[in-house]
Formats: sequence, C-alpha cells, structure tokens
Amino acid sequence: MITAAPALTPEKAILTLPDDRWQAHWRQAIREPAELLALLGLDAQTMGVSADALAQFALRVPRGFVARMRHGDPADPLLRQVLPINDEMQVVAGFSFDAVGDGQAKKATGVIQKYRGRALLVTTGSCAINCRYCFRRHFDYAGENAAKGGWQEAVAAIAADPDIDEVILSGGDPLSLSTSKLAELTDALAAIPHIKRLRIHSRLPVVLPERVDESLLHWLRSLPWPVAFVLHANHANEFDSQVDAALARIRSTGAQLLNQAVLLRGVNDDLDALAALSERSFAAGVMPYYLYQLDKVQGAAHFEVSDAQALALHAGLMARLSGYLVPKLVREIAGDTSKRPL
Ligand SMILES: *Cc1c(COP(=O)(O)O)cnc(C)c1O
Ligand code: SF4
Repeated sequence: MITAAPALTPEKAILTLPDDRWQAHWRQAIREPAELLALLGLDAQTMGVSADALAQFALRVPRGFVARMRHGDPADPLLRQVLPINDEMQVVAGFSFDAVGDGQAKKATGVIQKYRGRALLVTTGSCAINCRYCFRRHFDYAGENAAKGGWQEAVAAIAADPDIDEVILSGGDPLSLSTSKLAELTDALAAIPHIKRLRIHSRLPVVLPERVDESLLHWLRSLPWPVAFVLHANHANEFDSQVDAALARIRSTGAQLLNQAVLLRGVNDDLDALAALSERSFAAGVMPYYLYQLDKVQGAAHFEVSDAQALALHAGLMARLSGYLVPKLVREIAGDTSKRPL
C-alpha cells in the first residue's frame, strides 16, 4: 500500500505493521479437557481428569500443539504436560507455593534479581499454554508484573544499578505481550548504557509458532544488543515443520537460540527421549542449555524424577551425544548465586 505518510522511525513502523494476528490463534486455544480428549480419541474418566486441578490452574493449549500429540495415546508426552489430573491435588511434603524464592529476590515491581549482572523482568503473567508443573500456578501476577505503569518502575530500577549488564524478559511468557508493548520496553531500556545483552525466555515459538510474525522479526532486528533467545521444549515431538520455520526466522535476525527443558517423569525421563530432544533441537538450530530438576511446586510432585535417576540419565547422554548436545543438569535453589549443578 502506498500512502503519503511521512517516513517512520523503525520504532513507529513496528506499530503500523499488521501486528498480532497470532492473537486469534491464541484465543482459539483449547480450554476444556473434554474437548481436548475428544480430539485425541481419549476418555476423561480413565485419564483421571480433575475438576479441582482445573479450577486451581486452567487448561490452556494451542490447537497447533495438540496436533503434535499422538491420537489415542493416553501416555502422550505432550498431553501429559497440559492435562489437569487427580495427581495434582495430592499435598506432598516439601512441595510449596514459592518453590524458587521469588518472594525474597524482588528488586522492584516485576524485577527479580538472584544472580550477578542479570535482572529478570516478569513482563506479564500470561502464557500461551499452561504447563502443569509450572510455578506460575501459584504466583501472584496481578500485582507483580513489570508492565504496570508503562514499565517505569522496572526501567528505573535497572537504570539505577550499573552492575546489571543483562536484562532477561521473562514472565509468564514475554511474547504473549504485543510487539508494540515489547518495543515500548526496549525503547526505554535502550537509553541505559550499562545493558550489554538482552535475553528472551519464551515457549511461544514452540507452542504457538504463529507468534513469530513479521512485526516480531522487525523488532528483534531493531534491538541494539546481542540477543539470546532461550526456548523451552521438553520433548522432540514438540517440534514440527512450522516450529522449525519459526525458529529459522528468529535465527535470521541474528539471535542465538538456546533451549531449556525440565526433566519430567512420564514426559522425558528416559535416555532416548532426552537424546532425541537434543538432536531435534540442534536440527532446528537450537543449542541445548539447561536440563532442570523440577521446581518443587505444590501440584507437580508426580512429575518428579529422583536425583539418582537424573544423574544416570545425564551420564547416559554424555556417553551417547556430542558434548555440545548435552545440556547442563541443574536445579534452582533459593539463595544460591547461580543454578546449582547436580
Ligand atoms: C534462572 C534465572 C536467571 C538466569 O540464569 P542463567 O544461569 O544465567 O541462565 C536469571 N535470573 C533469575 C531470577 C533466574 O531465575
Ligand atoms: S510456558 Fe513456561 S511460564 Fe508458561 S506455563 Fe509453561 S512453564 Fe510456565
């Protein structure tokens, strides 16, 4: 379309691109266990679906992700990550509501700093998917996200601390915000001279690849810092050709792609699954980064893998794969100065 509009700065151009069509895909996400199971040819009774677990943390799963689940397989590793089941309602000692100490590491509204040099922004409480093992199921996002008040408090806290050289956009999922909202934040951050890197923690390119649209790519290209893009995929089946294409587009902006996975019983707690995840990630241009032991969140105990088994799996990966395909096996302990290797 040709108009007589004046030339736009890159930031303003972002606002005028046909942004946020992906939101239609997001709104069509499945929210009813019965609908999800019907699509897969499975029965709610035998699957142990729990109305209480659903009430505690909603079901939400994009249709494209459901299409990657195996029809008729009650043990499908993607289904297990999203289906609310009775096991979640067991109260298990040692599993809490603030498993990773976010309450004590708060620097400002929506700004969490646990490690030297890195400030993590809780940009939003929203996500495109609800993973049953997530600490989000209990976190108070209404009061704790950095976007409130046009990012001012978060940006001021980062500007005031010259030791911060990396800003991590996290959440929730930062890419569940509109691109113009993200640009508003990075425009403000661009004025802070001590920021050297930007990191984006997002599962959206995997669960809703439609999110990686022209406007997002334009924004990524316009950023004044090197970008680390840390994805979250737990199983090789989470990748398909549409995800591959989305990841290739992100890489074309110059961002480094990394993956963090969570070790989950019944999802990826065997050597073949973990090896396939690393190989499939690499084939999509993504380097394995971390393999996390589960955060001890109330409702997620049935996903726990013992440390002994985790270490054996990690040793198995080292014996099988190229060194660069082996993620670091770590867990998060409140008060530590880094993630802790097992
Ligand atoms: C995990 C985490 C980071 C990032 O740690 P890296 O080891 O650099 O990946 C930063 N801040 C917070 C609050 C975290 O939880
Ligand atoms: S994508 Fe990440 S933040 Fe969102 S529900 Fe899943 S684990 Fe939690």
